[in-house]
Amino acid sequence: MSDRRTPDDAPDQPSYPLPDPATIGSEHPDVTGGWLRPAVFGASDGLVSNFALIMGMAGGTTDPKPVILAGFAGLAAGAFSMAVGEYTSVASQAEFARAEVERESREIARHDRAEQAELASMFVAKGVDEDVAREVAQQIHSDPENAVRVHAREEFGVDLTDLPSPMLAAGSSFLSFAVGAIIPLVPLLFGIVSVVPTVTVSLLALFGVGAVVTAITDRPWWFGGLRQLILGGAAAGLTFLVGSLVGGVAV
Ligand SMILES: [Zn+2]
Repeated sequence: MSDRRTPDDAPDQPSYPLPDPATIGSEHPDVTGGWLRPAVFGASDGLVSNFALIMGMAGGTTDPKPVILAGFAGLAAGAFSMAVGEYTSVASQAEFARAEVERESREIARHDRAEQAELASMFVAKGVDEDVAREVAQQIHSDPENAVRVHAREEFGVDLTDLPSPMLAAGSSFLSFAVGAIIPLVPLLFGIVSVVPTVTVSLLALFGVGAVVTAITDRPWWFGGLRQLILGGAAAGLTFLVGSLVGGVAV
């Protein structure tokens, strides 16, 4: 027998009221970064990829028309590609989760007692006494649907009511990439065909994106900004070089 305190130790104390389960954890900030993280990284992808694409084109031709055309094609192609990739990834993850839950549900239907013992052992591992753990497991298993839900959570951390939406993930990747990719195009939209404003605007935006990323890390903002500026600038510079080489040979 353990010497832990049980409610019988304090018979005069009224038991503390249970909080609404929906409110538990709501006082913690989303430690995964929530929407900010994918949005910022999507925008950064769009910015780096389209800045580099435009510079590559500008390295190969002095005609502004194909540069502008490539910039918009790059925005559309990149945003669609991000959306398709994100949709496929989130959808297949959800399908995998559903298949695993289905498998667990069959296991529980077939071997209820073994699954009950398995659940009890997980509670014991969390510090619950064996007799209490067995009783809790038995109560959970009195409703098979509930049993499946609890097993899915405890065994592989899946909550079928809380799966991310593939459409939402695809839509937000599309938007964030497009927002980043439009930035190097802004001077061209205003009819400024020189490459200097595109470079200036893009480098400033790279610094901004890098600085924003540090909001979810513990690096200083100027470090994140400079790092992103150097990496994105190098990508664009190298693509400019490729464009110059290919443009000199092939066009
Ligand atoms: Zn199980």
